[in-house]
Amino acid sequence: EQQDFIGREAVASKRKQYFYPCTQHFYRDAPQLVRGSMQFVYDEEGKSYTDFFAGVSVVACGHCNPAITVRTIEQLQQLQHTTTIYLTQPSVDLAERLEEVMPGGLRRTFFVNSGSEANEGALLLARMYTGRKGFIALESGLHGRTNLTMSVTGLPMWRTDKYLDHDVEFIPRPYHPDLSLEEAASLSLESLERVLEEKGNTIAAMIVEPIQGNGGMIMPTRAYFRDVKALLERYGVLLIADEIQTGFGRTGKMFAMEHFDVVPDIISMAKALGNGIPVAAFATTDEIALALNRPSASTFGGNPVSAATALAVLDYIRDERLPERSVQLGERLKAGLKALQTRYPSLIVDVRGTGLMLGAELAGADAEGAAALTDQVLEAMKDRGYLIGKNGIGRNVLAFQPPMIITEEDIDGMLNVLNEVLADHND
Ligand code: PMP
Repeated sequence: EQQDFIGREAVASKRKQYFYPCTQHFYRDAPQLVRGSMQFVYDEEGKSYTDFFAGVSVVACGHCNPAITVRTIEQLQQLQHTTTIYLTQPSVDLAERLEEVMPGGLRRTFFVNSGSEANEGALLLARMYTGRKGFIALESGLHGRTNLTMSVTGLPMWRTDKYLDHDVEFIPRPYHPDLSLEEAASLSLESLERVLEEKGNTIAAMIVEPIQGNGGMIMPTRAYFRDVKALLERYGVLLIADEIQTGFGRTGKMFAMEHFDVVPDIISMAKALGNGIPVAAFATTDEIALALNRPSASTFGGNPVSAATALAVLDYIRDERLPERSVQLGERLKAGLKALQTRYPSLIVDVRGTGLMLGAELAGADAEGAAALTDQVLEAMKDRGYLIGKNGIGRNVLAFQPPMIITEEDIDGMLNVLNEVLADHND
């Protein structure tokens, strides 16, 4: 049955009229998406796009994946919502499954509804456990849109500085374009040590993305987080891993902290856990969980529909071996992007990331030129049927975070088209 749509221009104009003016879009001419099926989305005219962004890592198992939606719908028709004062099975089954896939002694899960809310809970928990108020965060990190989570966010474009909590020490991230990863890690660690020496006993936690997403796909050296954890332990400071973008197989491991052999004290998770249905959580050990000593519950957190969906997601990730798939397909995509870098060294200056969380940094005559080129490439790719993302402090990094069910043919097809688009700009 064909639905009637009001058309792209009409949607754009309503959005302009009724949304807040700050609402972002990447495109001069944004498509109106009306349908999705696995790695594809479709506009109102039936044009298909292969999705290499997946709503920033959200739709990791594919759009409207029937293996998952059937279980969402079943639960929706069975029992939709209660509160945590009653017993329901989906949320306890989900907490049990999370315990099985989480590293170390992380066992207790508190369900909420968004990434920001998960980090907010994690930060408050760290304050209550340590009895301290301060935080340490990495420059160029992104942790959310609530007051506390924005306060620990390092990317200026995501902060409303004047109104934030200022008990936060930012230290350099373990990446610098002019340094090796080892040198950048040392500088970051030296800075961390100085902050800890000066005021370690006032700091509750350090919050980090294991691999910075919006900051431009920044993966530190293997040793970096081990050294960070050891330093923090000396001062009784907790480590919070924000796995909101990296979690659930995207980087080739269930959680990205496993690349560094580090077990954080608290993990926050969201996005891919619901494959598009809002579900999020922060998880910790038995001991730390005791510190949240007020009756506390989120109205929608862990509701039966979200929990049943997340259980279906975890089954699908396990049954389809999606972390392994991320490794294999990620290697193919990264090799292809590196080949394009070799062909267009003045346009692509770096290719980085791991698994299916990859970035290609573009250059221009100056920073503005690089950002403008990125927008032009995104627009041209969209016109030719490929959706990719962008991030980075200069908004000049092409972001590839496709559903993990993407195929080798999709990757090769996208690389061919990206080659043509870059050729148009190579003069
Ligand atoms: N942390 C990270 C690493 C994120 O990428 C995001 C969202 N882009 C958030 C937190 C905030 O999540 P949400 O938008 O669900 O509140």
